[in-house]
Amino acid sequence: MKQNFGIDIWGDDNFIIDNDDIRINHACKPALLEITEDIRSQGYRGPILLRFPHLIKKQIDKLFAVFKEAQHEFEYKGKFHALFPLKVNQYPNFINHLIKVSQEYQYGLEAGSKAELIIAMAKTPLTAPLTVNGFKDKEMIALIFIAAMCGHNITVTIEGLTELEAIMDVYHEFNKGRSKPVSPDIGMRVRLHSSGIGSWAKSGGYGSKFGLTSTELLEAYDILSKHGLADRFTMIHFHIGSQMSEINPLKKALREAGNIYAGLKQRGAQGLKAINIGGGLAVEYSQHSSSQDRNYSLKEFANDVVFLMQEIARSKGVDEPDIYTESGRYIAASHAVLIAPVLELFSQEYHENGLRLKEVNPPLVQELYELYKTIKRSNAKEYLHDALDHMESLLTLFDLGYIDLEDRSNTEILVNLIIKRAIILLKDEDTNELKRLESRIQERYLVNFSIFQSLPDVWGLGQNFPVMPISKLSQKATHPASIWDITCDSDGEIAFDASLPLRLHDISVEDEEYFLAFFLTGAYQEVLGMQHNLFTHPTEIVVTFDESGKYRLQDTIDAQNLMDVLDDLDYDTDEIDRRLKKMIVDSKLMDDMQKQDILGKLYLYLSENSYLKTIQAIITPKIKGHK
Ligand SMILES: *Cc1c(COP(=O)(O)O)cnc(C)c1O
Repeated sequence: MKQNFGIDIWGDDNFIIDNDDIRINHACKPALLEITEDIRSQGYRGPILLRFPHLIKKQIDKLFAVFKEAQHEFEYKGKFHALFPLKVNQYPNFINHLIKVSQEYQYGLEAGSKAELIIAMAKTPLTAPLTVNGFKDKEMIALIFIAAMCGHNITVTIEGLTELEAIMDVYHEFNKGRSKPVSPDIGMRVRLHSSGIGSWAKSGGYGSKFGLTSTELLEAYDILSKHGLADRFTMIHFHIGSQMSEINPLKKALREAGNIYAGLKQRGAQGLKAINIGGGLAVEYSQHSSSQDRNYSLKEFANDVVFLMQEIARSKGVDEPDIYTESGRYIAASHAVLIAPVLELFSQEYHENGLRLKEVNPPLVQELYELYKTIKRSNAKEYLHDALDHMESLLTLFDLGYIDLEDRSNTEILVNLIIKRAIILLKDEDTNELKRLESRIQERYLVNFSIFQSLPDVWGLGQNFPVMPISKLSQKATHPASIWDITCDSDGEIAFDASLPLRLHDISVEDEEYFLAFFLTGAYQEVLGMQHNLFTHPTEIVVTFDESGKYRLQDTIDAQNLMDVLDDLDYDTDEIDRRLKKMIVDSKLMDDMQKQDILGKLYLYLSENSYLKTIQAIITPKIKGHK
């Protein structure tokens, strides 16, 4: 079996493995290790979030290209528009680059809250569409009217009838005394009886939090007509939930929403011209072909949308609607890669040099030692079984007081070493027994990051993110691995799963640095990330490429330092500062010279973030500016 960490499944040709390295498959093709070392040479420790704007552009290009192709193929008369839903990633280093790389497309933004609306108003070009979904109060509706008055091409999606009443109130308020009334376009979110599948299915279906039933839709249309606003009703909207693993629920939803569109058109909704299919386009996160997340391609997705809309429009004799999508995960996931250093391997005690063999060992221990020294491919299975058998006997002997603690320790080490050897020797035989044994000798990699902060969906949803080392790739990784983060929470772990195994290298962190990269972390993870144990958003850096193909590091945002984190929790940091200082000054345990020295150290530490440093880094700290 080739060792490629499933990159052919999840990688989308964004990265290539080249000897020891994983490289970015773009421009000068720098290795992730090279970039990481470059950044660390500037004094950064702890996890680093790398953003790649060229990968944002790639996704946007693909989305527009595939819909253009489908429109062309079916001779579809409606237009295609796309918006980025801000809730998927609102970070400025992402949004600013997204706006920059999408200029040629009139790519818009979708907002679901007041704060997101402010971002959308400030960042969306006036000609690009802006949509507002989610629950709204009068103030939020007023903000939407302000955007419309500024000339934004904005559509407000109503989720319920009360909201529509509020919109009518604000409409009359804003247009008092105006001869030419201004209003945002109005969309209606429909409550579908078909629903999505997977963890996020709650967004669609009759039980959904969102949307109007057919009765409410008709009533809403009547209200709009009564206020003379029927022609501002332009869009039908639905969203069946994120990460849809299969295409069928989408097809059902498209038929349902398409028929609602046609029904309202037939009823005289003149202004209605668009159907907004929300998001849901899935990302392939799997590293194993046996557990793929998506059963359709982007092409199939686009073809189905265009074909079904056309079919319904034709059969009902109405215009083919403009199509809007709000895919977020699909656009954002691939742009971010989290790089985190391994701090320690926890079962390193199971090393040959940990053995404490005696002049005369108990016979079974001696025998284990012989098995370990002479195991080879042809006898591996037999020796393995012998070793396991001996271990049972030795543990019983220990319980009965016949062997001592050193003998028991030798037993543990030798059996562990024999299992490891056997697994390597028998690696072509994919038996259940070997899989079980793999879990038993798994190595725990302590990694300098927080799962709660950087991969919250691992914790909250059991989601998988592709992970692999960024060095040594030409060497076989043989250790079945579980990953531990540095929070004091036992949930901060990615357990070894024998049916979807992750294997990492045997390394000695004292001698060499070893980094893991977590991929596809650009959607949802950052803002959902929580400061459990007060670990903050990692230092982030944008990697761009100049004309000559060389990479450039820009827009660095340092991880928050300790005092800023406490300040965020509304601690009185001045008071904390004063107290710490006073404790040192008043201490009877130090002379004045020492106090000076300790104060200096304390302020240095306070200017750093919570993530750990390697021993070497603590000895020679690189001083960064206190922000
Ligand atoms: C969350 C959301 C999206 C984005 O969904 P993805 O699965 O990330 O593509 C789009 N539209 C609406 C209304 C949403 O709530």
